[in-house]
Amino acid sequence: MTDRLAGKTAYITGAGSGIGEATALRFGAEGANVVVTDLNGDAAASVADRIVAAGGAAISHRVDVTVPDDHAAVVAAALRSYGRIDVLHNNAGIVENSIDTTVVDTPDSAWRTAFEVDLLGVVNGTRVVLPEMVRTGGGSVINTASAAPFNGNTTMAAYGSVKGAVIALTRYVATSHGRHNIRCNAIAPGLVLSPGALEVFPVPGLLDAIAKHQTVPGFCAPDDVAHLAVFLGSDESRFISGQTHIIDSGLMAMGAAVP
Ligand code: NAD
Repeated sequence: MTDRLAGKTAYITGAGSGIGEATALRFGAEGANVVVTDLNGDAAASVADRIVAAGGAAISHRVDVTVPDDHAAVVAAALRSYGRIDVLHNNAGIVENSIDTTVVDTPDSAWRTAFEVDLLGVVNGTRVVLPEMVRTGGGSVINTASAAPFNGNTTMAAYGSVKGAVIALTRYVATSHGRHNIRCNAIAPGLVLSPGALEVFPVPGLLDAIAKHQTVPGFCAPDDVAHLAVFLGSDESRFISGQTHIIDSGLMAMGAAVP
């Protein structure tokens, strides 16, 4: 299938690297007008250039998801270029792995960073885009959450807790705006071999240890998550809303099977 997103405009945050980058490229290939944004404006510009070089349509902006005015500025630019926003992918996120450990040891600063980037960053983008989707008759909001809140862990307490809140927020948006033909779904990845993850998890042997608990061999690449985002952004998923879609190589299924 091609052109699954033809005629749609998609605003993607954290699209300069990893899952967001792969999603932006995939959206461009499927015919969307892509609004590529990232805290790293040069990275966003480079991704937009690649979409255009491949024959697609894209603009780029530097957006810090914690700054409401950044979202407002990019939405205004997107409307000037394309007239509407059909898909919002709240994808930007960080984990301060070196200091975000247990509930006791994680410092206040790491809790605040997780809250501001991983939760308020999603709220900020959603609040600016939803009125535009209402105005134009609907849309699809996709939030990149994480499988962490389902699994629990001995580390990343702040990140996992806040990603759990993103899953709850997803249901709130789905219920409050469903009558406007707006859907909202979360993607909950397990380990995805993105540049960000490889930086955070350089521990030798960790991949082998995780792999032993997966049902499906191998780890997701960012592009595997991008395929799911294309489905959730397209009309193929038009009756799917308020759900969290786990993509974890079957890790959770295996966990349930281990006594
Ligand atoms: P990545 O580090 O490769 O890419 C994240 C991008 O977000 C970077 O380009 C970075 O510049 C940008 N970013 C960071 N802070 C930002 C901010 N304040 N405003 C705007 N952009 C900002 O990471 P990734 O693995 O592709 O992560 C993407 C999303 O997937 C994140 O929300 C992450 O929590 C989530 N996730 C990743 C994994 C994984 O294993 N890779 C697993 C579960 C969830």
